[in-house]
Amino acid sequence: MFSINSILFITIFSLSCILFYRNIKKIIRNINLGKKIGDVKNKPKRWKQVFLIAFGQKKMFKKPLVAFLHLFVYVGFVIINIEVIEIILDGIFNTHRILFSDKWAFLYRTMINIFEIFALLVLFSVVVFLVRRNIIKVSRFLSSEMKGWPTLDGNLILIFEIFLMSAFLMMNACDLVLQESNLSYKYPKTGNFIVSSLLTPFLSHNLSTNTIFVLERFFWWFHIIGILGFLNYLVISKHLHIIFAFPNTYYSNLNPKGQFSNMSSVTNEVKMMLDPNNDPFAQNQDQGPPERFGVKDVNDLSKVQILGAYSCTECGRCTSECPANQTGKKLSPRKIMMDIRDRAEEVGKNIDKKGKDFDDNKSLLNDYISPEELWACTSCNACVEACPLNIDPLSVIIDMRRYLVMEQSAAPAELNNVFTNIENNGAPWQFSASDRLNWKYDE
Ligand code: SF4
Ligand code: SF4
Repeated sequence: MFSINSILFITIFSLSCILFYRNIKKIIRNINLGKKIGDVKNKPKRWKQVFLIAFGQKKMFKKPLVAFLHLFVYVGFVIINIEVIEIILDGIFNTHRILFSDKWAFLYRTMINIFEIFALLVLFSVVVFLVRRNIIKVSRFLSSEMKGWPTLDGNLILIFEIFLMSAFLMMNACDLVLQESNLSYKYPKTGNFIVSSLLTPFLSHNLSTNTIFVLERFFWWFHIIGILGFLNYLVISKHLHIIFAFPNTYYSNLNPKGQFSNMSSVTNEVKMMLDPNNDPFAQNQDQGPPERFGVKDVNDLSKVQILGAYSCTECGRCTSECPANQTGKKLSPRKIMMDIRDRAEEVGKNIDKKGKDFDDNKSLLNDYISPEELWACTSCNACVEACPLNIDPLSVIIDMRRYLVMEQSAAPAELNNVFTNIENNGAPWQFSASDRLNWKYDE
């Protein structure tokens, strides 16, 4: 039953799975650099979000044309991968079309026909996406943070899909020709497939049976090795969102937009100050050093914020809606999420090389994200609203500002006046607290 082919296949398949497992484990370790999230409440609503936003791509439909093309690519990619189950079984047991039987021929043919139609839709959509990126040059793909690897990554994903879908259709087309050849004893008679049968005249008129046999094997191996390669490519690509979109949507913020979270570190401090029985020295001994206020580096972020960075598709919808970005400020919410991922990767690599207690004298703040970017934000929430995956760049911006204000007293001068007024007058204005009733009811 097991031949050289099977052994070769099992070796390649196992090595690819092991490599993927090792790399995805590192990414999960990087996400776990963040702070724990508290109790996850409202689970039914969260599952509803996963169903509507991650599976149903509801937020993509604000731009219906692109949404349909993206849906073709997404559904097509998922459905065609079901076909990979048969390829894997064939590879392991050295069989050909193991799931086919004469009794269920119609069902089998229908299944392959659905895969082929989706393969064609994926090909069409991917070509349109390539044209949008490279010929029409849609502006949100041209921002400065997209220079270099992000642009190459976006194009590579699309080119990968073209190769995978073409290999699938060519493999089927060669198979159909071989079913009618002197090698037909090796190829079960499945009946015609709707798309690949259009390619068969070209093959049967121009190539010998032996050449078509070699081509069929080539496309079979190319298709499966391509899929295993793509699996391992995911871990260095923005395409990782096809996995992380689901947990990210589940854990996304359910609070009304504009409602900020309380900082547990501040709440604890205030509680301690108000407690007459509190012994601050005893607390410190029990609990170690106090928590940092706000976010300076990735380990001050929450796990959900880092998960958001790994889920980001770099689509730029957030940046194109951002009023600060539109008016020429330095801020791009997409860059904020890309910076978090880059820094998490850097920290992860340092941990691998130097251990947990390394110090590279770098941080997310200043080395990746500047105060100028943070203070350009109007906290309007347009980026959160626009994001098709419910990612929340604003929460990161607010947490980093909190660090600047509370740990570094580095607020802009205009805000310092407001803070002084709140401290002295209990309100942001320069009126004495004792005059409050005068202005509060003044029409
Ligand atoms: S909340 Fe800030 S980053 Fe987001 S769109 Fe508004 S200004 Fe831009
Ligand atoms: S944060 Fe959301 S909207 Fe912004 S680039 Fe990432 S996926 Fe797109």
